[in-house]
Amino acid sequence: MIATLPFLQSRFESFNEVFFGGQLPPVPLKLGHATRSLGACTYKKRRKLFRGVEYYDFRIRISTRFDLPENELEDILLHEMIHYQILVNQWNDTSAHGRMFRARMKEINEKYGRGIAVSYRFRNGKLSRTVRGKGAPAGS
Ligand SMILES: [Zn+2]
Repeated sequence: MIATLPFLQSRFESFNEVFFGGQLPPVPLKLGHATRSLGACTYKKRRKLFRGVEYYDFRIRISTRFDLPENELEDILLHEMIHYQILVNQWNDTSAHGRMFRARMKEINEKYGRGIAVSYRFRNGKLSRTVRGKGAPAGS
């Protein structure tokens, strides 16, 4: 299937309840046309008054260029929701897909039998996932 806003909206709400304890604040969900990444969690960054930076103005964007099985589309949304959880809580991960990201990913995959990957590539009409390793920034 191709991502639609009602699909993303309903999945965001149910995933938030099931996987994130309902703790994620609402976020604008957008459809995009990226051909090189399937999803993205975008944000702005500003310096805090005294030290450090904070993240704000979040958006989750899912590409409509890919026709994927529903569960794979859901896993891509979950991937972006993990980024969002880390950013919105201003947690400092070791890298974009650092220890914290991987721990959350593993927890959800194991506990709920999901197949969230660190990165996704779409080549010759097939989706490939990287579950371990540093992973390319694709599907960030
Ligand atoms: Zn990512």
